[in-house]
Amino acid sequence: MGALSLGNIGKEYGEARAVDGITLDFPEGQLTALLGPSGCGKTTLLRMIAGLEVPTRGTITMGGRDITRVPAHKRKFGMVFQSFALFPHLSVRDNVAYALTIAGTPRGEAAARADRLLDLVQLAGLGERRIGQLSGGQRQRVAIARALAQEPDVFLLDEPMSALDAKLREEMQVELRLLQQRLGVTTIVVTHDQREAMTMADRIIVMSRGKVEQEGTPQEIYHWPATGFVAGFIGRANFMDGIARDGRIMVGEIALSLPQAARFLDGSPVQLACRPEAIRMGEGGAGANRVQGRVTFVRDLGPVRDFHLETVLGKLVVEHGSDQSTSPKIGETVHLTLPPEALRIYPRLPPQDLSGGVPSALAAE
Ligand code: ATP
Repeated sequence: MGALSLGNIGKEYGEARAVDGITLDFPEGQLTALLGPSGCGKTTLLRMIAGLEVPTRGTITMGGRDITRVPAHKRKFGMVFQSFALFPHLSVRDNVAYALTIAGTPRGEAAARADRLLDLVQLAGLGERRIGQLSGGQRQRVAIARALAQEPDVFLLDEPMSALDAKLREEMQVELRLLQQRLGVTTIVVTHDQREAMTMADRIIVMSRGKVEQEGTPQEIYHWPATGFVAGFIGRANFMDGIARDGRIMVGEIALSLPQAARFLDGSPVQLACRPEAIRMGEGGAGANRVQGRVTFVRDLGPVRDFHLETVLGKLVVEHGSDQSTSPKIGETVHLTLPPEALRIYPRLPPQDLSGGVPSALAAE
């Protein structure tokens, strides 16, 4: 079987370039999330992998064999779509057994295998029901069981949780991940939800405008976003525009220190990013990167509080655990520290080149 690989895959619809030359490997047994904003080409890429779209250019290989033009039904890939696409007139068991019976598996054996799969997705005993008699979460499990019935080489899911409410979605993410690990099946999940990707994936591919913006583990992508776009799309970030000078970064009149600043030539326009939870608030004493901020808004989210502040660096948002003693009120002035090691720096591109368009204050709220 072997790893699935894409070599310079592209897809154009007339003038529109949906996928723009992507080269990637999907290691065997791993769960990879394709993550990106609406229209970045995730679904088109997944559909090409599935064999439902023919690429305009490039190759898809599986264990070294070229499968670019092999039709979907000959790929032995299991698929789950947003809509689940179940057969309403069939029972739950027959939905799961469908592909097996079509492939010639004797009825009794197909039904027995369907029951084992229903057990696996925690639907034991519901085989006789009609699809209309199931909840959204149960339907989703049927779709998963059906896709796994043929023991697929690759399991493909396109926004599999989008029809579920928030709580059930979180539960299903954990369940699906545990199931995937137990089966060890190579899996690709398309999502626009960064929490979903971080919950489930061994590896995240962040896409923007038909290209790969960054690939890495959830931790790498969160802590070391390769571009300002990724920093704003995965989690939240405070952004500041600055200019490199003498190994530091000037944001207005304030000089900020950070380890990577010296890599930028004097006078280069840069963008800094800092996670709201990385900014320290209310500590006395001297040190690098300290400014004052006036609280303009407090958002209490239960376990954490967001403080919106006006500072000489612009508007900043600081997130603090609710258990911390510091809790300034609106109108109060506090000391803020932006730890050098928590600042990320990117070349500042002309506005029209900023893929995805990162807002200047706090992105991805
Ligand atoms: P979403 O999260 O909204 O589903 P996506 O990242 O999956 O978005 P795609 O559906 O792959 O994005 O679409 C990528 C681009 O290709 C979009 O600009 C879209 O309008 C265009 N596109 C997709 N399918 C077609 C098609 N059949 N004909 C023309 N353009 C298409």
